[in-house]
Amino acid sequence: MREVGYSPPLFSLKFFCYLLPLRGHPKNQEPTAIMKKRIALDMDQVIANVLAKYLDIFEEMYGRRPKKEAYWGKKFYELEEDAIAIRSHLFDKGFFRDLPVIEGSQEGVKALMEHYDVYITTAAQEFRNSFEDKYDWLREHFPFIHWKQFIFCGDKSIFNADYMIDDHAYNLETFQGKGLLYTASHNVHETRFTRVNNWKEILDFFEKERSAE
Ligand SMILES: [Mg+2]
Repeated sequence: MREVGYSPPLFSLKFFCYLLPLRGHPKNQEPTAIMKKRIALDMDQVIANVLAKYLDIFEEMYGRRPKKEAYWGKKFYELEEDAIAIRSHLFDKGFFRDLPVIEGSQEGVKALMEHYDVYITTAAQEFRNSFEDKYDWLREHFPFIHWKQFIFCGDKSIFNADYMIDDHAYNLETFQGKGLLYTASHNVHETRFTRVNNWKEILDFFEKERSAE
């Protein structure tokens, strides 16, 4: 019968002590890996200017280029009765290949990569032709991001990162880290997330984050 206050056999303690020096032995000592925090960075309307392409197509269709005050805060398709046809171009091969780069994003991503692991997280499944276009576009305009950091996906709720930068509130709704909403025409009325209007504001935000750590 065991007495009250029974302690485990001594050999288990000896065994544990035997293992301890291994942790500190130079041959077994791994350099401490400093894990960078991760940023899930959206592509369309954060680094790739889809709006500019929409405006080009709109101009081709209607012979006029809408002014910002006409479309800002609206869905682009609401401007003309049949403007929904613009959306069908998203399925075209080449649509995503020649999008202009969002101002400041190349320098901005480079600056972020000094402190963070940046992953390009872009919803591509809906438009099957977009995969190759997006890949080629990234290799051309962001050659300093390794292809291993490109994540083409359907549902961004799968991502586990420290930060997400996206122009769609529904992607931030399910995100467990800190979400930044990049201002776009379709999200100007959204108030639930930290808003960034340009890449300077993104870099300012992260600088504050680092100084608060
Ligand atoms: Mg987007």
